[in-house]
Amino acid sequence: MRAGHPWIYRSDVTAADASAGDLVEVRGARERVIAHALYSDRSEITLRLVSTGSEPPPSSFLRDRLHAAIDYRASLGLDATAYRLVHGEADRLPALIVDRYGDHLVLQALSQGIDRRAGEIAAILGEILHPAGILARNDPRVRLLEGLEQTVEVLAGSVPERIEVREGAVRYDVDPWRGQKTGLFLDQRENREAALRYARGRLLDAFSYHGGFALALAPKCTAVLAVDISEDAVSRIRENATRNGLTNVEARAMNVFDELRELERVGARFDTIVLDPPAFAKNKAAVNKAMSGYKEINLRALKLLAPGGFLVTCSCSYNVSEGAFADIVLDAAVDAAAHVSVVEKRMQGRDHPVLLGVPETYYLKCFILRKLA
Ligand code: SAH
Repeated sequence: MRAGHPWIYRSDVTAADASAGDLVEVRGARERVIAHALYSDRSEITLRLVSTGSEPPPSSFLRDRLHAAIDYRASLGLDATAYRLVHGEADRLPALIVDRYGDHLVLQALSQGIDRRAGEIAAILGEILHPAGILARNDPRVRLLEGLEQTVEVLAGSVPERIEVREGAVRYDVDPWRGQKTGLFLDQRENREAALRYARGRLLDAFSYHGGFALALAPKCTAVLAVDISEDAVSRIRENATRNGLTNVEARAMNVFDELRELERVGARFDTIVLDPPAFAKNKAAVNKAMSGYKEINLRALKLLAPGGFLVTCSCSYNVSEGAFADIVLDAAVDAAAHVSVVEKRMQGRDHPVLLGVPETYYLKCFILRKLA
């Protein structure tokens, strides 16, 4: 807590006198008030601090922090109409996510305290940003840990099934009702921009979703192969390629593990490869299995990569640290008999800030590597 971490676990709470979602005083030794927090009567994270010290936060604290979060994004000069406006703990609005898709906002309330204030938050966002509509994408499973139901509902205005957004030069149609997360993987925007500096020749975009990396990098490549296991995602990649006038993008609905093996068998070669898998380690128990998954795809990718080529390799598992991920990639390079240099070490985009002292806010690792000749 002194280092700025906002969570207090159930096992550290000796007594509680509060109801679900209350703003409560947190008392330490000798009953002294040491902080104020939003209380959960269900989650293992019983308290999410909103201020420290004996003074309560000002009654305008939600509004003040929403303003600060929005002003920060405006200061970044992002070259996109879709980005994250509020990143929970890292904006001192624990358990609140707000993403912007053009004129629309998509919100996630992931604790009892934020859920209870979702209407108030939507009203403040309405005053500040005048969106055409606000959707609550309250279907993540973590809501169950708070005893909250999984629902998707409009909080204000209207929200269509397709919203056109732009990221750099690429135009997308986003489905905020059903897309993964709130519609797009916004956290990779700056890594796509960075990868564009190196992309060339034949590109393999593995775990492509709606074509994030494939479409951004296609103009600098001769041929692009995008692979995703979901048929629905693959048809989106094709639609997006067409709408962006890209004729060099092929999309395949395949399991990446199988496709990499098959590409190796037929002697395929790529000059640029992107690996952006889902979080293989969703919890601590899954870490070992996740490690072998990361190792396998990185090993196969390094074999498929032509000498002088670039590998953009990512992990969004919070439970696999940057150091552990670097070790896995090194293991893969050793097994592939490849000498690899680190061109860039990157993380989630700046609209998904990392709070020093809160390791949970640093989840996305992205290394851009070069295979030496
Ligand atoms: N690179 C994307 C985001 C990837 S999210 C972007 O920039 O937007 C991870 C994707 O991996 C999801 O679309 C999911 O459908 C896909 N996926 C999960 N397991 C897979 C597997 N074994 N093979 C292929 N795709 C898989």
